[in-house]
Amino acid sequence: VYVENTLVIVGAGQAGFSVAAKLRALDDQRPITMVGLAPDLPYQRPPLSKKYLLGEMTFDRLLLRPPEWYEQNRIGLRLSTWVEELDRVAKQLRLQDGSLLAYDKLVLATGSTPRHLPGEIGGTLAGVYTIRDKADADHLATVMKPGSKLLIIGGGYIGLEAAAVARHLGLEVTLIEMADRILARVAARETASSIRAVHEAHGVTIRETTGLKRLIGMDGAVTGAELSDGTLLDADLVIVGIGATANDGLARAAGLAVQNGIVVDDRARTSDPDIFAAGDCALLPWGEGSVRLESVQNAVDQGEAVASVLAGAEVPYRPKPWFWSDQYDLKLQTAGLNLGYDETITRRGQREGSLSVWYYRQGRFLAVDAINDAKAYVAGKKLLEMGREADPRVVANPDADLKQLLA
Ligand code: FAD
Repeated sequence: VYVENTLVIVGAGQAGFSVAAKLRALDDQRPITMVGLAPDLPYQRPPLSKKYLLGEMTFDRLLLRPPEWYEQNRIGLRLSTWVEELDRVAKQLRLQDGSLLAYDKLVLATGSTPRHLPGEIGGTLAGVYTIRDKADADHLATVMKPGSKLLIIGGGYIGLEAAAVARHLGLEVTLIEMADRILARVAARETASSIRAVHEAHGVTIRETTGLKRLIGMDGAVTGAELSDGTLLDADLVIVGIGATANDGLARAAGLAVQNGIVVDDRARTSDPDIFAAGDCALLPWGEGSVRLESVQNAVDQGEAVASVLAGAEVPYRPKPWFWSDQYDLKLQTAGLNLGYDETITRRGQREGSLSVWYYRQGRFLAVDAINDAKAYVAGKKLLEMGREADPRVVANPDADLKQLLA
């Protein structure tokens, strides 16, 4: 039954949750329904490739709120439900069971989907995994047996985190990366080198400038791989970590502006003023261009921005990106976005193995990667929040106190 002023949120993940929670925090009592394909209550994904995969964290600790919270806050949940179609003229959604759901305002928080390997090169063989959902991690955890041979395709954060978990569990791990180095898309050479060294010290074989020709299978299950340089490898299981694409199909079919993600303005509005998009699926303004951010920071903050706009505050959302990755005892924290950097400064930290890499473009400070160096992270993040520069002379001098930058 349609109730006036209804907000419907498609996607019961981090961003969708953030919209609903912030609206209630603002004491906005409009009817809210969240529709999500997953059977689970909204949960955080980062531990799926870290402590949860390792078995050191239970699922209830991943939940963003316990079940009763939704009831107390009168947030309707329609889980295990796929939204098939968006009709912008009638302002309603068609759900997979054929029922219709009407909205006044709509938020698309549909997330992203990992890229899969094509079937022609073995992508559909049993034993080939991506990591996105609880079910993926649960399944993987049952097959990650000590002594098994794991091939990881792609040297991005998810692949590297999975490598660390696998070594911890006693698997033999080979990671291949098509580019000339791991983390080529997201981090500077210095960051990548120091992370590579930690993996190699833990016994991971990393092969850069090496692509996959095909996976080899027997009776429908993966048994090995042929690499671009002709090498043949045995593999009991394969994890594919080659990036993700925005879930923008619903928006595209409804005629909303979509590029590599659902195009939104700085209020997170799509090309339809009654429809917003937030999180991994949204392509948002950044500098002269646009960017899609796959991070908890963006899902939470952009979701909150949508709520504020819905509640009547016309404030622009200007992302303050930050991110982290845990691998073994290595904690990487980044603040800012290094897009278009033309110079880096690498700074030795106070502790053994700690390091930070500072990114600049035409002399302007853009971002910092901090490896086991919370001080550098905090200083960099504060500078970015304050819109201040990071004086290269201070940064480059490992004996100079970073607090000087903040003074
Ligand atoms: P999601 O949380 O994916 O939620 C979207 C939901 O929408 C999904 O449940 C999907 O099923 C549902 N949906 C999509 N289409 C439909 C439809 N038509 N009908 C119904 N439901 C639909 N970020 C960090 O900052 N730090 C990290 O260390 C980190 N580690 C990560 C590790 C892993 C393994 C993964 C997968 C992600 C990690 N991230 C990390 C990224 C972060 O988790 C995401 O950026 C965040 O979850 C995005 O939130 P979202 O709400 O946009 O998407």
